[in-house]
Amino acid sequence: IAPPASNFIRNLIDEDNRSGKWGGRVETRFPPEPNGYLHYGHAKSICLNFGLAQSYGGACHLRFDDTNPEKEEQEYVDSIIEAVHWLGFDWGEHLYFASDYFDRMYACAEYLISSGRAYVESLSAEEMRAYRGTLTEAGRESPYRSRSVDENLDLFRRMRAGEFHDGAHVLRAKIDMASPNLNLRDPAIYRIRRATHHRTGDAWCIYPMYTFAHPIEDAIEGITHSLCTLEFEDQRPFYDWLLDALATGGFFPRPLPQQIEFARLNLTYVVLSKRKLIQLVDEHHVDGWDDPRLPTLAGARRRGFTAAGFRLFAERIGVTKSDTWIDLSVLEECMREDLNLAAERRVAVLDPLKLVITNYPAGHSEQCEAPNHPLKPELGKRAMPFSGELWIEREDFMETPAKGFHRLYPGNMARLRYGYVVRCTGCEKDADGNVTAVLCEYLPDTKSGTPGADSVKVKGNLHWVSVAHAYEAQVRLYDRLFAHPYPGNRREGDPEDFERSYIDDLNDTSKLTIRAQLEPALANARPEDHFQFERHGYFVADRIDSTAGAPVFNRTVTLKDSWSK
Ligand code: ATP
Ligand code: MG
Ligand code: MG
Repeated sequence: IAPPASNFIRNLIDEDNRSGKWGGRVETRFPPEPNGYLHYGHAKSICLNFGLAQSYGGACHLRFDDTNPEKEEQEYVDSIIEAVHWLGFDWGEHLYFASDYFDRMYACAEYLISSGRAYVESLSAEEMRAYRGTLTEAGRESPYRSRSVDENLDLFRRMRAGEFHDGAHVLRAKIDMASPNLNLRDPAIYRIRRATHHRTGDAWCIYPMYTFAHPIEDAIEGITHSLCTLEFEDQRPFYDWLLDALATGGFFPRPLPQQIEFARLNLTYVVLSKRKLIQLVDEHHVDGWDDPRLPTLAGARRRGFTAAGFRLFAERIGVTKSDTWIDLSVLEECMREDLNLAAERRVAVLDPLKLVITNYPAGHSEQCEAPNHPLKPELGKRAMPFSGELWIEREDFMETPAKGFHRLYPGNMARLRYGYVVRCTGCEKDADGNVTAVLCEYLPDTKSGTPGADSVKVKGNLHWVSVAHAYEAQVRLYDRLFAHPYPGNRREGDPEDFERSYIDDLNDTSKLTIRAQLEPALANARPEDHFQFERHGYFVADRIDSTAGAPVFNRTVTLKDSWSK
């Protein structure tokens, strides 16, 4: 494996290591809020944070940022733990819940009040907004800003004791209402919210705001480098202001954790916002959170995407300081690269048409040998039964051949891969003229692997499955969930198209369920076994719908990209 490519984050860490800032310690964290399932974007953040910790011999914490009680649930905690493990990462003993720090956060808030750095605000939310000003207009100080320390402490303690209704007061940091950075205009840091928390129950009726909680979580855990996405860049001055104040108060030692921003993942043909994913599930545009078309990691796993493919993808796209779009084909290509090496080959006929070999001994069958992996001969070969009636792909026969068509048409010869050369003699049709069977004769001396195999040269090479031995199974052909690279965006040259929603851009043919004829060995596939179905693409035995001896298969990705022009 190649060493990780350098990037601006690694450069910063290297610089800290040279200066001895942290004594060589590197500690990162992945801090999901347990309010939904993880998606492809989180995979980028997971690979980045855990990858850095690994390569610097440090640690990466898995921390649930569960400070917002209304939307959080244990179900999400469980699915996040499963997804991070699945991606191949381990946090060791570093599993944390921000809600375990509520007492310490509360103590930090009291210290800010005592040292004149915070006050209880009693304006309504609407009034606060009006006082805050805008980018071009300085804010005004609230009349409550000059409350005494004693009054503030008293009110804050009564907020905690449950004396006030939700929204009656908030605690604000006292910084600078004239700051050009709106985030420094006395941001709210605690609010009253009567909601049952999935871990602390009803112990609290005030909860810290994310911008207040997050830096404290980092400092409590001794995080060295706190990586977040670019939209938090304007929050960094508050992050630093807060931790500096708390270090002054003796809450945390210096040096203090450093926030570093990187560009979030934007993928074409994909939506990643939780709000949109929830709508797709709730309105049944997909079959649940682990639908293979959904960009959740639970969906990716069912789809047959691999953890190694995600890690390769994260390495390949790297980290940057400016937002860009990555083409979905980059992710798909990473999955192909991983699966090309990882997946054994099998034969599947997805659109079956019967091929009758008229000169093959009736009732007879024999074994052909097919390599399990062309790049890994050590994986050996398997037997594929051959008989006088085979399934072939409908598209491998043309009664009147198009130009350049080298497969079966009356009079032409083609090889049945791992089997014999056959000569097409005609076909049978139903009353409507649809072809119901193709007829041929085989050349007995041409069996693959025998001296006569090369005696006849043909251009076409078809795959097949013996009718008497085939395993008929359900196969789901998945494709991109959206048909448009920027779902919901206005079409270029269509300035009137303001109403467009990403729902309008769903791909009508993102899921096609078929009955396919598979080689018999596939009946023994276990859930999550990956295969390349020759000439078709990569498939996985579904981990939910398969039963013992009766796997169903999902198409992970086709062999070639059919979307890029
Ligand atoms: P969403 O915006 O999709 O609702 P979120 O940012 O609210 O996601 P969190 O659970 O708060 O989700 O995120 C956990 C971590 O994952 C954060 O550190 C965040 O920066 C990172 N993350 C979320 N989305 C992306 C993305 N698209 N690309 C890279 N990192 C992401
Ligand atoms: Mg969030
Ligand atoms: Mg977000």
